[in-house]
Formats: sequence, C-alpha cells, structure tokens
Amino acid sequence: MGESKKNRVLITGAAGFLGSHLCDRFIAEGFEVIAMDNLITGDLKNIEHLFEKKEFHFYHHDVTKFVHVPGKVDYILHFASPASPIDYLKIPIQTLKVGSLGTHNLLGLAKEKKARILIASTSEVYGDPLVHPQSEDYYGNVNTIGPRGVYDEAKRFQESITMAYHRFHGLETRIARIFNTYGPRMRLNDGRVIPAFMGQALRGEDLTVFGDGSQTRSFCYVEDQVEGLFRLLMSDYSLPVNIGNPDEITILDFAEEIIKLTDTEQKIIFKSLPKDDPLQRQPDISLAKEILGWEPKVSRQEGMKKTFEYFKGLTKEELYRSEHKDFSAHNRR
Ligand code: UDP
Repeated sequence: MGESKKNRVLITGAAGFLGSHLCDRFIAEGFEVIAMDNLITGDLKNIEHLFEKKEFHFYHHDVTKFVHVPGKVDYILHFASPASPIDYLKIPIQTLKVGSLGTHNLLGLAKEKKARILIASTSEVYGDPLVHPQSEDYYGNVNTIGPRGVYDEAKRFQESITMAYHRFHGLETRIARIFNTYGPRMRLNDGRVIPAFMGQALRGEDLTVFGDGSQTRSFCYVEDQVEGLFRLLMSDYSLPVNIGNPDEITILDFAEEIIKLTDTEQKIIFKSLPKDDPLQRQPDISLAKEILGWEPKVSRQEGMKKTFEYFKGLTKEELYRSEHKDFSAHNRR
C-alpha cells in the first residue's frame, strides 16, 4: 500500500472545542487528518461526523505518553489541554503534564517526521497583565503557584521548549497565543464565562458575574480563530503571534448583552472573584495583521447568536452530557 499523497496533519486535543473545529477545517482543505485525544475533557460527539471520511483517523491516546504515528506526518497541531480555570482545579497535574511532557513528545515526533508543528499557547502567558493591550513583546505577570499556575507555567514552558527545538534542532515551529475564543462545541460545565452564561440562560437561571464585573475580556469567534491559526501554520514566522479579537468588553456589560441576545428575563447576581482572575485582557493583533494579513471578521453579536443557536439546538441527552461531564477521577498522577 503506497503512502497517501495528501498532506497529513496530526491534531492533538482533536475531540475538544478548538481541536474539533481544526479537524473540520483541515478535512475541508483536503488534508488527511490524524486526530488524537485521551477524551478526558474532549467528547467524541464533536468529531463523530468525521468518522465516515476515509481521510480521517482517530487515535485514543494520551500524548503525555510516547506518541507513535505510522507513516508520514507533514504538520502537527498540539491542542490537547484543559483550557478553563475550573478544569485546571479538577486536573492540575494532567494540565501540567500535557503542556510540558506532551509538548516534548510531540516536538520529538515532529523532529523524527520532519514535520512543522504549531503549538497552542495562550494569553495566560501574560498573566494578570500590567501592559494593555498585550503585545507579543510583553513578558507577563504570572503567579507560578496560584490555581492558574499549572496551566500558565506549562504553557510558558511549552513556548520555551518549542523555541529550543527550533533553535537547536532547526525544527519548523509556530506558536499561537490564543485569546478567549468561543463558539459551538464548548462544554457547558467547563466553567468559562460564555458556556456559563449560555447554560444559565437556557435553564432560566440568573447570570453569575464574578467580582463587580469590571474585569474585561475580548472574545473571538471560533471561525476567525481557526482562520488565524491556519494562516499562522502556513506562514514562515516562528516567534509567538497573538490570535484573538481585540473587541474588549467588561464582564458586566457582557452579561447584559447576553440577557438581551437570549431575550430572557434573568437578573445578574454577583459572586466572588476567583483568585488571580486577570483584570483586563485584550490582544494587540498588529503582528498578525502584518504577517498573516488576518483580523477577525465575526462581530460578537453575530458570533454569540450562532453560539446560542447551537446550544438551543442540542438534544436533551447532548445537553445533559455537556452539563455533566465529570473527569475528577482522572487526576491520579
Ligand atoms: N466569569 C463570570 N461568571 C462566570 C464565569 C466566569 O463572571 O460564571 C468571569 C471570570 O471571573 C473572568 C471572565 O468571566 O473574569 C472570563 O472567565 P473565563 O473563565 O471564561 O476565562 P479566563 O479569561 O478568565 O481564562
């Protein structure tokens, strides 16, 4: 059997929110997709529709263990990781391992296969930023030992080891610093603000704003995010690039927007602000504009509408799964 002539891409975290949208995009671009996930936070439901395609393969594997993929691999996208503060609290050690050991394994695989690798870094490398908006040359303000430290430090290590493989082994590497992204297939109980508000609106509960709601975020619709990531992978730029939407809003204003959008009668209730919750976050995307010719196109209004439609369209069983995914037992080591 001859090797496939198509470009082959390995996507880790493929059953997750971003990973599954990336699978869709690469299949649409004519790639052969090798999807990998240990299914701790991901859900096969997100990629179920791709199983019938012969260009799509799924490996149930934990990338913190040695990763083997038979045949050629042209590109790797490392998107395996919990990505919400609630999830880090449930599986802090897995979070550290997938960003560090997992990245090491995938860099080793990229070297072996002579593949180009893109790693999913995060705006969390800027911590609670003292510079606003955040541009790539800001080094960040991170608490190493706080609840978010397990994610933030794993991602900072991930950037370091990726640059080391690039500089020492000449590996072709790309680093995306991803800012808050939303859209269909987010998990309703992942604790992040958008699924939290969407779930509350669906159940007719009041919206929970943490702190006084004056903290800001800037939300990017998933389709825009995937376009930015695709362009970055295909570019020749190996230093970190911010990918996000600079349209910034306070969480309180955002809660009011959601009430209008969902046409519900909910009130806003205030809860305490989690530790180390960044006060402000907004990407400076000048670099992405310049080198990728990219900027987000989908407004928050439009993106939120599509996202709410998706949640409204879930069956009772899907809704239950999305609201009750429990993986606390996975934190053995
Ligand atoms: N947040 C909130 N209510 C919720 C969930 C989150 O007010 O039910 C706030 C949270 O404190 C933070 C912002 O919304 O300031 C975004 O939180 P998220 O967990 O989505 O992502 P983060 O950007 O903090 O990683």
